[in-house]
Amino acid sequence: MTNPRIGHGYDVHAFTQGNGFVLGGVEIPCDKAIVAHSDGDVLIHALCDALLGALGRGDIGRLFPDSDAVNQNRDSREFLHAVKRLADQDGFRLGNADITVILQAPKLAPQLEAMQLVLARALDCPAGLINIKATTTEKLGFIGREQGVAVEAVVLLESVT
Ligand code: MG
Repeated sequence: MTNPRIGHGYDVHAFTQGNGFVLGGVEIPCDKAIVAHSDGDVLIHALCDALLGALGRGDIGRLFPDSDAVNQNRDSREFLHAVKRLADQDGFRLGNADITVILQAPKLAPQLEAMQLVLARALDCPAGLINIKATTTEKLGFIGREQGVAVEAVVLLESVT
C-alpha cells in the first residue's frame, strides 16, 4: 500500500418524535426523526469527517456550514460525493472503512447491507471495502434513553499512484 492515510470521524444527532430517519442513505422506519439542518444522516457525516481527516482537509462543518441556507435539508449523499471528488483530486482511494453506529433502537440489521451498497456506490468502490456495525449502550446514557444516535467511522486511504 502506497502512502496510507488514516482518518477518524464522529457525529451525534438528537432524536425527536417522527416517522423515521435516514442513515447511510437508507430510510429507517420507526417512531423517531433526527434533529438537523441537513437531512441529518449522522452515518454519512461521520464517514465524511473520517475521509476529510485522512485527506488532511478539515471537517464537514467547514466545507458545508450549517449557517448556509443551501445546506438546509440537503441530501447528505451530496456531501459524500463532494468529499469523494476531493479524494480523487488528491490522488487517494479508499483502502477500507469501518463504521460503528451506536443506537439503542431500532435494530438496524435489516438495513445494514443496503447502507453498505449506498456507500460503495457513492465512493465508487467494492462493497467489501465498507464494514458497518451496530451496537447499543446497554440502555446507558443519552443513547440508551433513545435521545440520540452516534456514529464513529475509521477509514484508511491509499495513494492511487
Ligand atoms: Mg452531523
